[in-house]
Amino acid sequence: KAKKHLGQHFLTDENIAKKIVDGLSFENYENVLEVGPGMGVLTKYLIEKEQKIFLAEIDNESIEYLKQNYEKITEETFVGDFLKHDFAGLENEQIAIIGNFPYNISSQILFKIVDHYQQIPEMVGMFQKEVAERTAAVPRTKDYGILTVLIQAYYDVKYLFTVHENVFNPPPKVKSGVIRLTRNPKEGLVGNEILFKQIVKAGFNQRRKKLSNALKVLNIPEALKTHEFLDKRAEELSVSDFISFTQLWKENQ
Ligand code: SAM
Repeated sequence: KAKKHLGQHFLTDENIAKKIVDGLSFENYENVLEVGPGMGVLTKYLIEKEQKIFLAEIDNESIEYLKQNYEKITEETFVGDFLKHDFAGLENEQIAIIGNFPYNISSQILFKIVDHYQQIPEMVGMFQKEVAERTAAVPRTKDYGILTVLIQAYYDVKYLFTVHENVFNPPPKVKSGVIRLTRNPKEGLVGNEILFKQIVKAGFNQRRKKLSNALKVLNIPEALKTHEFLDKRAEELSVSDFISFTQLWKENQ
């Protein structure tokens, strides 16, 4: 029986499960980590692949079920709570992420992926449609925000397809969307990441205001006070605008 507090909605459509797994390239990495395998609807296709599989699951009933039903899945396959998972355990190995994610922790999962982009070359997964759309959004739209800019700074995002409520047990309240992230860190980020995040967050936290106002909390460097971007609102800046502005800021601090 599905546990609501764990965000459990089990996918019942095998074709969609296959399509999600086929969204990964399975190239240039040795490991795949599935978040929230549940009863294994994706997992059973994953274990046919060459990669070493890890499962992050916090529901003991699911863990027992998977161990009993799949020979390849053992105690060692499980890594516990994804939000507490320590990627350093895999040292410099590359690990792709896949999942029909628990929607109550969608943003936390995405921010964790961004924080560990050096080890995560690819991610394919399902989120509530609204979150999936936010990751893929373009400037000057209401979906374009902190999540969009932070993810697109590190990954190319492709919205793959929409999934209807009725292919889940129990059905969620909203439609779902499957996306693929392909690592492609944008030039100029390295060394500026903390400031970049501060500027993006401050800018969108007051997204109705011009950046000259929204960024006041960060003490805008004197030399930047006449910069044309300050006359704009956060949603009018592209991801590369945010990065080049961060670089300038750093140089003039
Ligand atoms: N993959 C299955 C499917 O498609 O039918 C289950 C998907 S269900 C939407 C989300 C799964 O994530 C549940 O099995 C739940 O127990 C698990 N989960 C919830 N929080 C988690 C966490 N912090 N770390 C790992 N798994 C989690």
